[in-house]
Amino acid sequence: MGKKLFLAIIIIVLITLLLSMLSVNLVFTQQFSSYLTRTTEATLEQLPARLSSVYQSKGFWDPAALDNISQTLPFGTQITLNDPKGKLIANLVSPMDAMHMQYGISGMDSMMNMGMPYSVQDWKTKTMTIKGKDTATVIATAVIRYPSSARILNPEDRSFMSAIFRSILLAGILALLIGILLGYFTSRHLVSPLQHLTKAAYRIGQGHLDERVKLTAKDEVGQLASAFNSMADNLQKQENLRKQFTADIAHELRTPLTSIRSYIEAFQDGVMPADSENLMAINEEIERLVSMATDLKDLNVAEMGALQPNLSQVDLTGLFGKVIQNINPLLNEKKLSLEWNPPRQNVTIEGDPRLLTRLFYNLIHNAYKYTEAGGKITITLRPFTTLTDFVEIEVQDTGIGIPEADLPNIFERFYRTDKSRARETGGTGIGLALVRQIATLHHGTVSVESRIGQGTTFTVRLPKGEDILEE
Ligand code: ADP
Repeated sequence: MGKKLFLAIIIIVLITLLLSMLSVNLVFTQQFSSYLTRTTEATLEQLPARLSSVYQSKGFWDPAALDNISQTLPFGTQITLNDPKGKLIANLVSPMDAMHMQYGISGMDSMMNMGMPYSVQDWKTKTMTIKGKDTATVIATAVIRYPSSARILNPEDRSFMSAIFRSILLAGILALLIGILLGYFTSRHLVSPLQHLTKAAYRIGQGHLDERVKLTAKDEVGQLASAFNSMADNLQKQENLRKQFTADIAHELRTPLTSIRSYIEAFQDGVMPADSENLMAINEEIERLVSMATDLKDLNVAEMGALQPNLSQVDLTGLFGKVIQNINPLLNEKKLSLEWNPPRQNVTIEGDPRLLTRLFYNLIHNAYKYTEAGGKITITLRPFTTLTDFVEIEVQDTGIGIPEADLPNIFERFYRTDKSRARETGGTGIGLALVRQIATLHHGTVSVESRIGQGTTFTVRLPKGEDILEE
C-alpha cells in the first residue's frame, strides 16, 4: 500500500507537470502567434510610406536604406519591389529568412524550435503601390509575401519561451521532490499503524487475547484500531466467560451426580431405604441435569441461528396460567407471594409455545431464585395497539436486585453477577441468554431495570403480528 501511494503521488506530479507544459505551449503558440500576426500587419501597413520616404530623401532607391528597411521586416516577409514599368528594383528579405537561405533550416537550434519547424504552409500576398510626393504618381509597386500566421522565431521570443519552460520544469522537479518526500512520510504515517494492527491481529489469532493496539489518531485508521480493540475486548470477555462456564458446568454436573451416587451407595449399603421419597430426591437431581442439558442445547441451536420456531397462535393468558401453576409449589415453599395481572381479554400472539414457555419460565424462575422469603413477584401482561401491535410482559420482583455494573452483561451467556451465590441457587448463566435469543427470534425485545436490595423488573415486548416470523 505504501508503494502504491508513493507511486500514485509521483504519477500525479508527472502528469501535472506534463499538462502544465502542454498548456503553456498551447497558450504561447496561439496567443503569441496571433499577437505576432497583428504586429506584422501593422508593420506592413507602414511600408509604402517608409519606402516612399527612402526614395524621396535620396532621389533614387538607395540600397543601404532599403537594407535598413529589410532589417526591420517581420520574419518570413519577402518583398519584391518593382518600378512602374515592372523592372525589379530590389528584393527585400527579412534577416532570418536571409539566414535560412544561407545556412538552411538545420542551422537553427532544434531545441528552440519547440515543435514549430519553420515551414510555412499558408502565405499571404499583398500588393502595395508606393507613391511619390504629390501622391498622384506611382513610383513603385511592392509585392509582399508573408506567412498568414506568424511563428515565434525571434530568438528573444524563443528564449523568453524557453525560460518559461525551464521555470516550469524546475517547479516540476521541485514538486516531484516534495511529492517524493510527502509520499514517503504519508505512506509511513498510513502504513505503520496498519502494520501494528496486522501484528496485533496475528498475535490474537495465536491466542494472545490480551493484545491491543495503542493508537490515538482520530481518523479512519484510529477508528479501525478502536474497533479492533473492542473486538479483542469482546473476544477476551467471551473467552473468560467460556472458561468460567467450563468450570461451572463441571461443578453443576458434579453436584447432582455426586448426590445421586451417594443415594445409590446408601441404598446398596442398606443405610437408606429406596423408598419413594428418596427416589423422588434422585429424580429431582436428574431433572436438574436434564433441564440444564436442554437449556444448553437450545441456547446453542438458537445462537447458531438454526432454532426453527414451531409457529402457532399462542394464547398468552393461558400460557402464563400454566407456567404459574408449575412454579406455584416452589413459590409456596419459599413463602413468596405472586400477583398475576392478566388483561381483560385473552391475548393471542403468533409464536412457538414451547419457546415462549421457556422464556417466561426462566424469568419467573429467576425472580423466584433471587427473591428472599416473604418477597413478592408481580406478573403483568398488557396488549398495546400502536402502529405495530405488540404485547408487553413485565416480571417484577422484590428481590436482591442486580448491581448496575452488571446490567449490560446479564444477557450474555454464562454471565452471572455473583458466582458463589449463583452456585447456591444452581445457576449457570444460560437462562437470560436464552430469554434474549427467544425474544429476538420472535422479533421482540427484552430489557431490565433493577435496584440493589429493592428488586428487578424484566420487560419483554413481543409483536402480535401475523406474519412477523416469516419476514
Ligand atoms: P443463572 O442461571 O445464573 O440464573 P441467568 O442467565 O438466568 O443465569 O441470569 C444471569 C444472572 O443475572 C444471574 O446469575 C443473576 O445474578 C442475575 N439475575 C437474573 N435474574 C435476576 C433477578 N430477578 N434478580 C436478581 N438477579 C438476577
